[in-house]
Amino acid sequence: MDGPGEYLPDVTEGVTRVEDLPKPRIIERSRSYPRRPCPACGRSAYRDRVVARTLHDLGDLKANRPIDLKVTYSQHYCSHCGLYFNADMDDLALPKARYTHRVVSMAVRLVVEDGLPYRTASWHLWRDHRVFVPFATIQNWVEAGGKKSTRARGHGLSRRRPGQLQRVHRRR
Ligand SMILES: [Zn+2]
Repeated sequence: MDGPGEYLPDVTEGVTRVEDLPKPRIIERSRSYPRRPCPACGRSAYRDRVVARTLHDLGDLKANRPIDLKVTYSQHYCSHCGLYFNADMDDLALPKARYTHRVVSMAVRLVVEDGLPYRTASWHLWRDHRVFVPFATIQNWVEAGGKKSTRARGHGLSRRRPGQLQRVHRRR
């Protein structure tokens, strides 16, 4: 659950109280399928269960509200490999990420291409896109960005390849 801990008032300049921030509009997305190909062996794997995650997306400036995607997705089990994996949703966000690719790209562009300091980029995202990203998070993205894209190029990986980075470990 994403709590108000994300909304650090000191970086918003002008928004001083968490409760003053508008509530996000929730948009539901589904990435739940009865079967998916196993990323290891390619055999069709049944859905084991359905879970959900929340992703912060670029907001709705007209309505003056943030937008959160509630992504419902299936987890699958390959009995051949004994492997659990998630349905592919790499088009929306990186595994374990809390923001969509669109937010990350926008933030990184503001810093790398427009040369904004992290705090200013954070404020800009809030003011112009109604998405709240702590400046330290933006800094992490920018610092990780160069390395990640180099790695991805080196391995020739496509972001849409099913199952990539989607392994999950069983917690039973
Ligand atoms: Zn398999």
